[in-house]
Amino acid sequence: MTKTKCKYCGGSFKTSSKEYTLRSRHLDKAETTIENLIVKECKICGHSEMPEDSERYIEVIRQKIRKEMETQRNAAKVVVFEDTPDVENPLKNIKDFFRKLIG
Ligand SMILES: [Zn+2]
Repeated sequence: MTKTKCKYCGGSFKTSSKEYTLRSRHLDKAETTIENLIVKECKICGHSEMPEDSERYIEVIRQKIRKEMETQRNAAKVVVFEDTPDVENPLKNIKDFFRKLIG
């Protein structure tokens, strides 16, 4: 059963769309604007509620941004890993170094 009455004034809702800004910690997508998000808006006092469909839609986009963030983080890890000198066997590096010095 869906609520069709405004909880503040008891007025009925009309469906309207508005722009919704989704904020995230994603560096490239700190703000994602969803245009034409469906909301229920009270005809009398203007109170708006988000229907379940819209909440689900926002959640899907949120997940997508989170996944992109993880992908970027993993990509960054790979780069860091590749830039890291061979620390697994520092002794070998030192030996190589001395070998080069001695010629
Ligand atoms: Zn109302």
